[in-house]
Amino acid sequence: LSIKELYECKATPSISLEFFPPKTDSGTRNLMERMGRMSAMDPLFITVTWGAGGTTSDKTLNLAQLISKEFNVPVCMHLTCTNMERSVIDEALKKCQEIGIKNILALRGDPPIGEDWIDSDGNPEYEFKHAIDLVRYIKETYGSEFCIGVAAYPEGHYQEDSENAIQDPVKDLVYLKEKIDAGADFVITQMFYDVERFLAFEQLFRDNISMNIPLFPGLMPINSYLLFQRASKLSHASIPEKILERFPPEIQFDDDSVKSIGVEILIDIIEEIYKRTSGRVRCFHFYTLNLEKAIAQIVSQSPTLSHILEENESSSDDEVTPQEN
Ligand code: FAD
Repeated sequence: LSIKELYECKATPSISLEFFPPKTDSGTRNLMERMGRMSAMDPLFITVTWGAGGTTSDKTLNLAQLISKEFNVPVCMHLTCTNMERSVIDEALKKCQEIGIKNILALRGDPPIGEDWIDSDGNPEYEFKHAIDLVRYIKETYGSEFCIGVAAYPEGHYQEDSENAIQDPVKDLVYLKEKIDAGADFVITQMFYDVERFLAFEQLFRDNISMNIPLFPGLMPINSYLLFQRASKLSHASIPEKILERFPPEIQFDDDSVKSIGVEILIDIIEEIYKRTSGRVRCFHFYTLNLEKAIAQIVSQSPTLSHILEENESSSDDEVTPQEN
């Protein structure tokens, strides 16, 4: 089933999970074990990241294939389109067809830090400039064979190279609409901690683009204070004062306290979104960073999500046993 169909069939709240391909075989083995435990959280789908420019193409495809073989979960492969020859895109999509991957998150990608875009200069191998070009290409070449997702930014996309680097979700809206009009079936958002900004964006999306397209909010658990600060900065996600106040200086280096406050913060975000969208947003996408513990705690303690583990406990003996850290 495609992610769109799955979402439509699933009335109860659920989660989805993003993983990145480990560098080594032993890393992949550990990750597969971890995913085995995390499958007790019954994710609606799992996504696998793609290194911009095709840097992880083999590893991404291998991991995507392993997951779909080992677990009964639909896989969505991320695919970027800039700074990369079109033949790499074609090979990746053909491989997805072969191994039965039906869902693609179509992205633009960014050039490596400190480097420029490869100028297409009329070279059809580098003709993709924006994610919309990839959405159109997949639709034209493969029809409805793939269910296509696209990215969105509740606080606006940050353009490194623009003269006035401002983030403006309203400015981006026209391009997001273009991606949906070209055939994208679902949307996953950039991570955020400011729930009010997400809710304002969701309303904007519903009023201007679609009432029905699934919109998955991107959530990153807080595993350490420094990483939380760094990831928010890199993703241009603001941290509301009310959240910062929950980390007084004396606990910022106490990872256990930071993690448990982080779990409470993520649960508050989930409850607020579920309640204030009247369940219209009901699948929560986790940027796992390949870790399980915080997510297992969030799912088991969140009033909106805890039913998942209860239902699974009664139907299987599997347990989510956090292992890392
Ligand atoms: P686009 O939709 O092309 O938008 C990029 C910018 O261009 C926006 O400012 C938009 O407003 C503007 N724009 C769009 N179309 C036009 C147009 N026709 N004319 C003028 N301006 C336009 N990166 C990776 O390398 N690998 C990954 O696996 C990955 N996964 C991601 C998953 C999610 C959920 C998200 C949110 C991001 C992910 N990224 C990933 C990062 C992503 O590649 C970057 O954020 C990138 O800068 C933008 O990608 P996009 O698909 O949103 O681009």
